[in-house]
Amino acid sequence: MIRPPGFAGAAFGTVASGDLRVDSVRRRRVAESLGISADWAFVQQVHGNTVVEAFTAGNLGEADAIVVRRPGIPIAVATADCVPIIIEAKSAAAVVHAGWRGAVAGVVPAALEALNAAGNAPRRAAIGPAIGPCCYEVGAEVLAHFPGFVRETDWGTPSIDIPGYVANQMAGLELWKSDECTFTSDALHSWRRDATKQRQVAVAWLPTS
Ligand SMILES: [Zn+2]
Repeated sequence: MIRPPGFAGAAFGTVASGDLRVDSVRRRRVAESLGISADWAFVQQVHGNTVVEAFTAGNLGEADAIVVRRPGIPIAVATADCVPIIIEAKSAAAVVHAGWRGAVAGVVPAALEALNAAGNAPRRAAIGPAIGPCCYEVGAEVLAHFPGFVRETDWGTPSIDIPGYVANQMAGLELWKSDECTFTSDALHSWRRDATKQRQVAVAWLPTS
C-alpha cells in the first residue's frame, strides 16, 4: 500500500495489495496492518458526479464519491487508470473516482461541496496513481473538454493530464500527488494496458482517537 505522507487515514493499493474489493482475505490482512475495520464501504462506480455518505459499510449503490463522518467505516474506490483521490477534513473524509468523464462532470467539486455542506472544510487531498499525460492518448472529442490540460504522449500524440486537471479543481488545498503512471508501472493495474478487471483500491478512514 502507498501511504501519502502526512495523511492520518489514507492508503492506495497496488498490484501487490490484491484486488481488495473482492479478496476479503487480503483485505482483512491489509485492514489489520492499517489498524482499521475490514468492512469497507464501496460504490458501484458509473463515471458520474454523485456523492454518497457512508453510514454503514458495504455496497452503497451507484456513485463515484463517498463521504464519511463516522470513525470505524473505511471508504474505498477502485481504479485502474482513473484517478483515485482521498480528501481529508477535520472530522470527515472523502474518496473520489475520477476518470475523464467524471472529472468533467464535476465529481471532485461535488465531493468538496459535500464535505463543506457537512461542516467539514476540506484541508488536504492525496491524488493516487493514475494514467499520466505521458500515456493518456485521447481523441479530439475528449481533448475538447480539457483546455489547458492538453499534453503530449511519450510517442508524440495528443493526450490529457487528468491528475493535473483534478489537482487544479482542488487548488487551495494542501496536495500530495503520486508521480506514478499506471500505464507504465507494472506495480499498478492499468485498464488501457491490460484490459484487466483487476483494480487497485484507494481507502480512507477517520482515525479513532
Ligand atoms: Zn505514462
